Amino acid sequence: MFEHVTPYAGDPILGLMDKFANDPRTDIKVNLGVGVYYTEDGKLPVLECVKSAESQIANPPRPRGYLPMDGLPGYRKACQDLLFGKDNEAVKAGRVATIATLGGSGALKVGADFIHEWYPNAKCYVSNPTWGNHISIFEGAGIEVGKYPYYDAATIGVKFDEMCEFFKGLNENDVVLLHPCCHNPTGVDLSNEQWDTVLTIIKDKKLIPFMDIAYQGFGDDMDGDAYAIRRAVEMGLSVFVSNSFSKNLSLYGERVGGLSVVAPTKEEAERVHGQLKFTVRRIYSSPPAHGNAVVDTVMNDAALFEQWVGEVYEMRDRIRDMRQKLQDTLSAKLPERDFSYFTKQRGMFSFTGLTAEQVVRLRDEFAVYMVENGRMCIAGLNNKNVEYVANAIAEVLR
Ligand code: PMP
Repeated sequence: MFEHVTPYAGDPILGLMDKFANDPRTDIKVNLGVGVYYTEDGKLPVLECVKSAESQIANPPRPRGYLPMDGLPGYRKACQDLLFGKDNEAVKAGRVATIATLGGSGALKVGADFIHEWYPNAKCYVSNPTWGNHISIFEGAGIEVGKYPYYDAATIGVKFDEMCEFFKGLNENDVVLLHPCCHNPTGVDLSNEQWDTVLTIIKDKKLIPFMDIAYQGFGDDMDGDAYAIRRAVEMGLSVFVSNSFSKNLSLYGERVGGLSVVAPTKEEAERVHGQLKFTVRRIYSSPPAHGNAVVDTVMNDAALFEQWVGEVYEMRDRIRDMRQKLQDTLSAKLPERDFSYFTKQRGMFSFTGLTAEQVVRLRDEFAVYMVENGRMCIAGLNNKNVEYVANAIAEVLR
């Protein structure tokens, strides 16, 4: 019956998590693989604002009816306020269709299915490199995926001119998947000026920008990290935005995200909204209630919102501190090398430039786990392990 079914090789990042969990070197092992924020104590945090929201929601316990296909209205509003800014003209004009989704992954899937249905000839281009699941999700939706030049290993920056030239060669309605902030896996972002240039090309060539924002608040701040999104809307672009609350609310397992589509008119936005609901209906029907309620409660209560932003900035600042410590320690050990990229990159990740062989040595000899492409999750570092990790890296670089 299932002889023809091929084995699944497993996800490289999630597979690494299993290896880490089974590693008996409990006294020294360090997990810098998966994109998860850990506290200074190496724990997954439960944010204070989430604790407060959850106690409000639990008293009295709510009945658990189905949510609407597109999620709670307050949740959808929260996505819009955060991404586009309060009082955004397009939002006020009813030109933005927003639905709650199962995490950022769910938003990408619903968006990809919608694109495949309504732009059947569109190809999707992702940055080289990108988060691996971008490719899987778009290919899984039946869309051909290509790569545009992005990361420049020589400068640990962006191949900006090549990227622009590549975009100029694409066809109308091709999709370009962009990371508005905290690029995964490299940590290397475009400047605002570069965004202006790229968005102008996108507009001229009539490409479809699909912006995936999973780390809002971890780069500069809530507004600064949304620059590309807001600029695209200002320029009159019909942008798709997938957002995730997994990291900035530390609600990974609740599957909380959103998909927003900005349309030229209110009437088009309403039609798009209807089709997004239909897309949801035929995949999973409606989103989970608990996560929707938590996000709705935190984001629409002024005090809890303020507390939340403060907690995100605490996470951001701890990551920055770890970047600095890693850079300082490594620079002291190997003064002939330049480690300044650690503090230039933004967000949770750093592309370290370590080779697959060096990454394997880190794991085998030092129990330091990173993704084989050299991506390190800085949020797995803390004051107790940063020196150990720096020593280990220095050893494999010698
Ligand atoms: N986009 C990017 C760039 C990500 O890094 C991630 C999470 N690793 C996601 C989307 C998916 O987020 P979620 O876990 O909410 O599905």
